Amino acid sequence: MTVVADERRQAHEINKLSKRLHRQVGQAIGDFNMIEPGDKVMVCVSGGKDSYSLLDILISMRERSPVDFDLVAVNLDQKQPGFPEDVLPAYLGSRGVPFHIEAQDTYSIVKRLVPEGKTMCSLCSRLRRGILYRVAGELGATKIALGHHRDDMVVTLLMNMFFGGRIKGMPPKLVSDDGRHVVIRPLAYVAETDLERWAEHRRFPIIPCTLCGSQDNLQRVQVKSMIRDWERQYPGRIDNMFNAMGHIVPSHMMDRKLHPFQTLQATGVADAGGDRAFDEDDEGCASPAAAAGAAQPMAWLGAAG
Ligand code: SF4
Repeated sequence: MTVVADERRQAHEINKLSKRLHRQVGQAIGDFNMIEPGDKVMVCVSGGKDSYSLLDILISMRERSPVDFDLVAVNLDQKQPGFPEDVLPAYLGSRGVPFHIEAQDTYSIVKRLVPEGKTMCSLCSRLRRGILYRVAGELGATKIALGHHRDDMVVTLLMNMFFGGRIKGMPPKLVSDDGRHVVIRPLAYVAETDLERWAEHRRFPIIPCTLCGSQDNLQRVQVKSMIRDWERQYPGRIDNMFNAMGHIVPSHMMDRKLHPFQTLQATGVADAGGDRAFDEDDEGCASPAAAAGAAQPMAWLGAAG
C-alpha cells in the first residue's frame, strides 16, 4: 500500500471512529435524558483518556447541538507527588472551555489515615466525591458528567456479582448519594478500545494515574482482563453483556422484591411472550435503546460529526 493510500485509509478510519463516538454519546444522552436545555454540565477531568475524550466530544456536540447547555471542566488536584499542575490548565485554556482546578491535599489525608499496605482507593474516592459535589454546588452545575464507559459498566456488574453477591451495575444516570446532584455518564455506550484510539489520535496530554503509588484494585484489573480475553475469543461478548443490563426479565431471576413469586397463580390464559418453561431460550438480545422502546435521541443525533 502506498503512503498516500495508507494515510487515506487512516483518515477514513478516524472519521468513522469520530462519527461512532458522537453517535453513541448522542444516543446515550437522548436515551437517558442526560442533558436538558439550560443545563450547566460539570465535566470531571482527571487527565486520563476517558475524561479527556468525554470533554472533547461534549465540546464538539455543544457547538453543533440545538440544545442549549453550558460546560465547565473541573479537575481535582489531589496533591499527589509529581502531579504536573500546569498540564490541565494549559490544555483546558487551549480548548476555550471554562474550567476550575480545585486543589485539595487528599493525598496526605489518605496517607495518614490508611495503614501501610492497605488500599487507599476507597477513602480517596469518598473524599474526592465529597469535594466534587461541593464544587458542583459552588459552580451552579446542574449535572456532573463522569468519564465511565461501557467496559467500566460491565466490569462493575461482574465485580458486584463475583464479590458482592448481587446484580448491580453502574448506571448511566443517577442521583448522587447526598441527594443533591444528578450524575451522568455520557460515554455509557462507548467501548474502551475506541477511547484509547481517540485519545491517541487527539494526542491528549495524558497524566499517568499511578502517581499516588496505590496499586489499582487488583480484582478490577483481573475482571477487566478477563472480559478483554473473552472479547478476543468471542467478539461481541462485551456488547451482549452490556445490552443485557438494559434488558432485565425480573420473572426469570429470583428477586422476590421484583416479582411476586409467592402469589404466582396460573392464569388460564395463553401468553405468547410467557415462559416456555422447558425450552432453551435462544432469543437474541436487543440493544438497551431497543429494549427501552428505541427512544429518539432527540436533537442529539443531529450533532453526530
Ligand atoms: S488510584 Fe490513587 S488516586 Fe486513584 S482512587 Fe486510588 S488512591 Fe485515589
